[in-house]
Amino acid sequence: MRDFSNGHRWLSLNTATVRKQGDLTAIIDACARHGIRAIDPWRDQVAAIGLDRAVKAVRDAGLELSGYCRGGMFVADAAHRIEARDDNRRAVDEAKALGAPCVVLVAGGLPQYSRPGSAASKDIAGARAEVHDGIAEMLDYAKTANMPLAIEPLHPAYAADRACVNTTRQALDICDALNPARSGALGVALDVYHIWWDPEVLAQIARAGKERLLAFHVCDWLVPTRDILNDRGMMGDGVIDIKRLRSAVEAQGFAGYSEIEIFSNDWWSKPMDEVLQTCIARHRAIV
Ligand code: ZN
Repeated sequence: MRDFSNGHRWLSLNTATVRKQGDLTAIIDACARHGIRAIDPWRDQVAAIGLDRAVKAVRDAGLELSGYCRGGMFVADAAHRIEARDDNRRAVDEAKALGAPCVVLVAGGLPQYSRPGSAASKDIAGARAEVHDGIAEMLDYAKTANMPLAIEPLHPAYAADRACVNTTRQALDICDALNPARSGALGVALDVYHIWWDPEVLAQIARAGKERLLAFHVCDWLVPTRDILNDRGMMGDGVIDIKRLRSAVEAQGFAGYSEIEIFSNDWWSKPMDEVLQTCIARHRAIV
């Protein structure tokens, strides 16, 4: 496993971590101040300053990307399916312009939450079938752009409203079905917040192998968790054995960024520089 204790060369900042403290330009400036070499921006943050400006800011700062957040939300009623398809194609185009190595996919849950305005449903099996078909369709488009897609399994607590792909096994089953050649066009984004509890996780990471491991996200699971979406912990403040998971992905040959992604009302209330200083210190000590 790589030694992170001496520096933060392999720290990437998911820009949602400081989304309340400034726009993407301010975040990129802060990364430069702190010697952070990579980011994973969100589409709404890119849209807020404009794609062209975002591309230029990333390029001028010499930043790499560790992903692009996010595509997906495949589950929709018939009236909203084209919207979902076109929106995902735009995500691929934006990722390409920004030089991202992959688009991170959050699959979607039930249609009324994935694509607001869709007719309500309680059919989670149907939702899962739709996710499969939606990824297949997006993959055809993404391949023409040479843009890999990374399915991020989400903790089961999000099955209804965000993602009905809830385990690494489920995500890899989709990969095997749609990309049996393991060409690198389709893989997984593994976020310790979502996978740490899974008794199968280490075996599934081994099953994934290097070709399927496209991104690795870190934060921590706080006890108690007061808000299932916006109370993620800073690494070291919770119960996740992050080093064990990083060691497992690196044993498969993953050599990319360790991306810090913290949605937290607490951390959003602190100054950007303080958050980044803490991220760097914890990356060295805990990740
Ligand atoms: Zn994540």
